[in-house]
Amino acid sequence: MTSVKKIVVLKGDYIGPEIMTAGLAVLEAATRNETFAYELIDAPFGGDGIDRAGDPLPQSTINIAKQADAVLLSAIGGPKWDNMSRRPEQGLLEIRSQLNLFANIRPTKVTSVQIDRSPLKPEYVKNTDFVIVRELTSGAYFGKPRKLEEHQAIDTIYYNEQEVTRIMHQGFKLAQKRHKHVTIVDKSNVLATSKFWRKIANEVGKNYPDVAIDYYYVDAMTMAIMSKPATFDVVITPNLFGDILSDEAAQITGSIGQIPSMSIGENGPNLYEPIHGSAPDIAGQGIANPISMVNTVAMMLIESFDEKRIAAKMIASVDYIIKNHYVTPDMGGVMTTDEVTQKMIAYIKKHE
Ligand code: ATP
Ligand code: MG
Repeated sequence: MTSVKKIVVLKGDYIGPEIMTAGLAVLEAATRNETFAYELIDAPFGGDGIDRAGDPLPQSTINIAKQADAVLLSAIGGPKWDNMSRRPEQGLLEIRSQLNLFANIRPTKVTSVQIDRSPLKPEYVKNTDFVIVRELTSGAYFGKPRKLEEHQAIDTIYYNEQEVTRIMHQGFKLAQKRHKHVTIVDKSNVLATSKFWRKIANEVGKNYPDVAIDYYYVDAMTMAIMSKPATFDVVITPNLFGDILSDEAAQITGSIGQIPSMSIGENGPNLYEPIHGSAPDIAGQGIANPISMVNTVAMMLIESFDEKRIAAKMIASVDYIIKNHYVTPDMGGVMTTDEVTQKMIAYIKKHE
């Protein structure tokens, strides 16, 4: 008997629940004739956490998440909670540190069916398929001292050996499962932490002789993502640079409403979420693009549960709706979230 996988569902705010419902409906269709057994555990979080339990990250949610096999999260926050003393976004920072999510992984893939939506010319983006591995719990966003005074301000970039070694292993292992090519991003011509980053990359790289390594300064990398995105496989970057590069990379796919991400936990569950925000501007209209959540659920199936076949069904249904232009307004279509979802479900049922 296979064990029942526990998935904690943090349903999100504004369009968050709209796309969560869609993603879970497609999951249900894709698992209908499979032995994969899962249990969905709803827990309050973000704005929904404030509304239902008085806090963006209630202790009960932390406890449940730590016991789970995976955490599935939809976009949180929005104007409703802007004036609260503890805002939804604080819950997000706290859950990352509570689950010790040290690496954030974002794929950038431009498939042939969506190549026309890229702002770049087709010959530039053709065959683009890379993953950014961003360090998430140290570096410029966590370094101390940090001070804001009237006439001066300080931020600190800090990395220790264990933090850099850990993220490098993560990136190299991922490359072994993909196209065996790692790109190290830093600013080692200027920054001490970047020299350190590059030195450890070299050392860790020796354990992966089958993986090719190259190096980019972050400024050159911003250009290369635009001019030759198809040449990358796994890109390993410190926290601050990764924040910037991953948004740049998202843009070349043509739609923020499609992209999943995962954050890897040190000893506990991984956390999966679409990269976009809660989009209060379109919430309640039934037009949120559910593709990001369907891709997010598929990523969870592959990475946490090794259920590649079920994930492939979901991804095929995404390709199908894009190819036939059964899409929401953000992708130039006229369909509602629910119509798109039903098209995906019908496709999956028909192809079993
Ligand atoms: P954040 O504060 O995280 O930036 P946001 O709500 O501004 O959150 P973004 O991710 O920046 O959201 O998205 C910008 C805009 O893109 C949204 O306001 C919305 O119009 C559109 N958008 C984002 N995600 C989707 C989606 N899944 N479907 C349709 N439109 C989307
Ligand atoms: Mg925004």
